[in-house]
Amino acid sequence: MTQSPSVRPNEVDAVIVGAGFSGLYMLHRLRELGYSTRVFDAADGVGGTWYWNRYPGARCDSESHYYCYSFSEEVRKEWKWSCRYPAQPEILDYLNFVADRLDLKKDIDFGTRVTSGRYDETAQGWVIETDRGETVRARFLITGVGNTSTPNTPKLPGLETFAGKVYHTAVWPHEKVDFTGQRVAVIGTGSSGIQSIPLIAEEASQLTVFQRTANYSVPARNFDLTDEMRREQLDNFEELRRLTLASPIAMAFPVPDTSALAVSAEVRKAKLDELWEVGGFRFMFTSYNDIVVDLQANATVANYIEGKIRETVKDPAAADVLCEFNHPVGTKRPPLDTNYYETFNRDNVSIVSVRTNPIKEVTADGITTANGDHHRFDAIVFATGFDTITGTLLKLNLHGRGGQSLADKWKDGPRAYLGLCSAGFPNLFMLTGPGGPSTLTNFPVCIEQNVDWVTNAIEHMRETGATEIEAAAEAETEWVQMVVDEADKTLLTSVDSWYMNSNIPGKPRVFTAYISGMPAFAETCEDVSRNGYKGFTLRTRQPVEAA
Ligand code: NAP
Repeated sequence: MTQSPSVRPNEVDAVIVGAGFSGLYMLHRLRELGYSTRVFDAADGVGGTWYWNRYPGARCDSESHYYCYSFSEEVRKEWKWSCRYPAQPEILDYLNFVADRLDLKKDIDFGTRVTSGRYDETAQGWVIETDRGETVRARFLITGVGNTSTPNTPKLPGLETFAGKVYHTAVWPHEKVDFTGQRVAVIGTGSSGIQSIPLIAEEASQLTVFQRTANYSVPARNFDLTDEMRREQLDNFEELRRLTLASPIAMAFPVPDTSALAVSAEVRKAKLDELWEVGGFRFMFTSYNDIVVDLQANATVANYIEGKIRETVKDPAAADVLCEFNHPVGTKRPPLDTNYYETFNRDNVSIVSVRTNPIKEVTADGITTANGDHHRFDAIVFATGFDTITGTLLKLNLHGRGGQSLADKWKDGPRAYLGLCSAGFPNLFMLTGPGGPSTLTNFPVCIEQNVDWVTNAIEHMRETGATEIEAAAEAETEWVQMVVDEADKTLLTSVDSWYMNSNIPGKPRVFTAYISGMPAFAETCEDVSRNGYKGFTLRTRQPVEAA
């Protein structure tokens, strides 16, 4: 049973927003150390992104044995993953298992949204309000709101007149949606679209995919894990962890050390053929070391994938649309699939290029495109992604020193030192925040590092009597510039993407992730704390004198 909000304290050491991977581990660490903590989540259960994204085909793209917590040996030994890439229900079960095993739920207010946070400079703490009318004071405000948590639904003219059902992959109904016999539109071909399209196609009488940007998808090649494989993973935990921590993207496989241009075309093809069969992120990230920094190297891999698409898709016109590439491979988040391209060989599936033939309007019975074609639908599925990185943080309506709003401070793009703290917003920690490495890594690894670092900072404050920690403006400016400069050495800043904060009209176009890899980031954070929290100002609140 969870406690009713009324009997929970309204003054605590820390408030955590979000009960996904980040919030759960943060709660565990702080509670272990005796800090009073409350967690709020708008969902009715734990899981964060894995609570909401229940669309058909939703599954993880990182392999299960490292897409999980590492901190608890018991959890590791008691939990059994069924396959290489578990589906959403299994990951949600895992997070419930962890929350129950560590007895976390009793400190979480579910179904409760944080509506505002105001920094009280005198008290040196946050005043947090919820949509249940509660006000809670906390020394620390810690956000674990994820980077892909506020869905983006494009404002298509006439959408409100559509008489059929409208879905978004990121807020999928809890009950099964049955598309049998229906004419369905899927708009969007990012990871969510690419995972859901093959399964929706199996049910729908007619499926039309509206593609704005052709994506380079690689087969995931999921498989069931045997007991022997699981045992091997457990036995080799230390070595796999070492590989994970040495990997820029925090995945347990080796980092490539060869240029795609340093080998002959035959050698390259043999390697790519081999990795295509292995599937998953290993194709992109264990092949060559210059795919996202050198256009020529990039083209070798892009052309390889295009060849695979054209080999798979029988209708040349559909293949042409699927290969309408406008960006180098790997500059948007690479998707993985199961039978994505094969799906376009089905008689009931077609594809429309929104790039050459934009959606003009939605009507009561379908979608009209610029060329005048009208497509009739019973359901429209938006797989159009998220107001990423900053969307949910800004919705928290945070006001820092002098009443400055975070939205105002970030109007030209997010600014945070180490991706964790923003000048003018003392005692606020943003797990997997903007300018950190999270979105370019395997999340749980980055989350554990972020949470451990924040916990150590809070412990340091307790030990030294400090009551306020704030990123210095100069350190923040340097960090933000370094993030952009490092990204500019790659091809990633040459395209529009959610990494560039430019997947939604009106957002400031700026690179939002630390690209130099998880090991360098972790080392930098250690260096900051070893050197007296370099780049931060720590203050101690003076006791109020008795009258
Ligand atoms: P996404 O990658 O942002 O893809 C959204 C898609 O919708 C893109 O194809 C986009 O086209 C299109 N789109 C957006 N607005 C449109 C409009 N007005 N008209 C037509 N098309 C439009 O979103 P997502 O697929 O939900 O994935 C987001 C992120 O979540 C992923 O990159 C990944 O990090 C994470 N995710 C992970 C998994 C996994 O681990 N398996 C699964 C799903 C999602 P443009 O490219 O032109 O913008």
